[in-house]
Amino acid sequence: MPSGKTGRRVASAVASVEQKPAARPIAIILFGSPGSGKGTQSKYIVEWLKIPQISTGDMLREHIRRGDEIGRAVADRMKAGLLVPDELVNRMVFERVQQPDCERGFILDGYPRTLAQAEEMVSVLDVRGTSQVVIHLVVDYNVIISRMSGRRVCPKCGTLYNAVARPPKVEGICDLDGTPLVIRDDDREEVVRERLLQYERQTRPVIEFFRATIDRVIEVDASGAGPEAVFERIRGELREVLGQDRIR
Ligand code: ADP
Repeated sequence: MPSGKTGRRVASAVASVEQKPAARPIAIILFGSPGSGKGTQSKYIVEWLKIPQISTGDMLREHIRRGDEIGRAVADRMKAGLLVPDELVNRMVFERVQQPDCERGFILDGYPRTLAQAEEMVSVLDVRGTSQVVIHLVVDYNVIISRMSGRRVCPKCGTLYNAVARPPKVEGICDLDGTPLVIRDDDREEVVRERLLQYERQTRPVIEFFRATIDRVIEVDASGAGPEAVFERIRGELREVLGQDRIR
């Protein structure tokens, strides 16, 4: 366990970034239920800050697509909407953040998702001297259900569409490469229910740990507004945290 919020305050993102811009890398942790828009907001932040998005869901799906050892180990659990083992995702994330493109910082999308993952993340990032900020996307349960039931994905480029919020120009076809859209295996109704249950049980409680451990936990209401408006809110908050001079 880390030593707690007060003990870590000297190392806070704000203090160090203000005194020495760009001196420390930053981890932007996007936290929220399935369907809260973490993936969509990650893409906006990538574009803006030019730091990579680390999506554990995408990485795991890539392993399944390749049919490698990790893919074979997680496929059944993912299909059923269950979380995969903590040690496996922890290892995957910590290998990824050592890549050179993560030097200035990175976005964590879909990680951490359990208390054990969160504790491990905070201790590893503290040791590496990486500042941490949590963006909690807060979305009404009914909105989540309607968003997820209309979700389609391009199997080729991974672009997400939604029947209501973000329909493709031609129904059922990817705008970018013309590939027919599909329903992701784990977006089927009974699996969505299981994923939301897992979120309530295992993931939502992690926010309390963040509040006690990380200086910057930012709540963003992501229910009513469209994705661009939500991004503007996130950008406003992040500008303050990062300090104007470090970012565009
Ligand atoms: P969503 O956030 O919409 O549920 P993701 O693409 O992030 O979708 O995750 C899909 C699935 O991948 C999860 O249901 C789970 O099986 C697995 N997964 C992703 N990230 C993690 C994680 N940090 N810990 C455990 N399992 C994970």
